Amino acid sequence: MRTFFIYGFYDILDLKRIKPKNLSMIKKCWFFLSLILSVFISPAQRRPLPVIDMHLHSLHADEQGPPPLKIGAPMRDLGIHDPANDYRKTFMNALKTSAWADKFIISPTTDDSLRELTLAILRKYNVYGVTSGDPEILRSWKKQEPRRIINSLDWNFGLAKKNGLTVDSLEKLFTSGEFKVLGEVTIQYEGFTASDTAFESYLALAEKLDIPVGIHVGCGPPGAPYIGAVNYRARLHSPFGLEEALLKHPKLRVYAMHAGWPMLDDMIATMYTHPQLYVDLGVICFILPQKEFYYYLGRLVNAGFSKRIMFGSDNMVWPQAVAEGIETINKASFLTAEQKRDILFNNAARFLRLTEKEIRDMH
Ligand SMILES: [Zn+2]
Repeated sequence: MRTFFIYGFYDILDLKRIKPKNLSMIKKCWFFLSLILSVFISPAQRRPLPVIDMHLHSLHADEQGPPPLKIGAPMRDLGIHDPANDYRKTFMNALKTSAWADKFIISPTTDDSLRELTLAILRKYNVYGVTSGDPEILRSWKKQEPRRIINSLDWNFGLAKKNGLTVDSLEKLFTSGEFKVLGEVTIQYEGFTASDTAFESYLALAEKLDIPVGIHVGCGPPGAPYIGAVNYRARLHSPFGLEEALLKHPKLRVYAMHAGWPMLDDMIATMYTHPQLYVDLGVICFILPQKEFYYYLGRLVNAGFSKRIMFGSDNMVWPQAVAEGIETINKASFLTAEQKRDILFNNAARFLRLTEKEIRDMH
């Protein structure tokens, strides 16, 4: 850009028609003008301060149902249903018509447009995303934006069975360096907590390899057991389900995705008891009615955990969700500038153990 300013100016002038004395004066003036511009247009102004999205997904455009789908940003109603009807139809109709929201964002209709729009938002807001989802889609996103996409491995018992994600195959994927994070671990949808013995060997592997683990703790879609997740239960929202796993693996880096919403007191008690535990703000930062999100986030911050809360969008098929989430944090009047930077970047940089050089390169 600066190069254009300097040389573009000379190209516009017809240099041959200017007397050499005047030309040298113009060059001098332009040199000083460029110098002044370079001071005022610093790199930070050209590019926003970096953001780390700890909860981004790379999915097919029809992953949440036939697109386009309209999700509330935020939602006004979190489910409303007459049991005489089929809830799956009620839910899909709400996404098709935005019936539960006053303001919505809309999903693109093809895999290509979902990729392009998501990557464009990452560039615009200078976002680096811990990204999980369909492995082939993830590879295509990574190929296009190798610096901004940090590969994470989706895991649950169903996926393990389907894709052969055993402890041995996971060890290979992590030691090869292709994947940096294990998550989103979605065993809550299958009726398990992270402390269940069936998950034990995977946590042991992550602890041995020092791989951070992102575990879904908290909300799925409203009415999850009625739209396919038959073992989903409200009581599994509680982060208390993490406790035994944390105690058994004290060196493990773990973050509770969705910050355990809506189990606020359980979340505070768990963070208080287990100082290594971080949380992300995935999905709650853009779909919750804003008053509720600010109340929840405000309580976590007031309770003393602003250094362990990380931004996460949980963007599935709505690229604008990343922008909505960032704006919601930036607009929170109860947060200081330092707390906003901690949530949007510093806490995740510390949690991921980024080097000083890696952090510098993100700016
Ligand atoms: Zn989740």
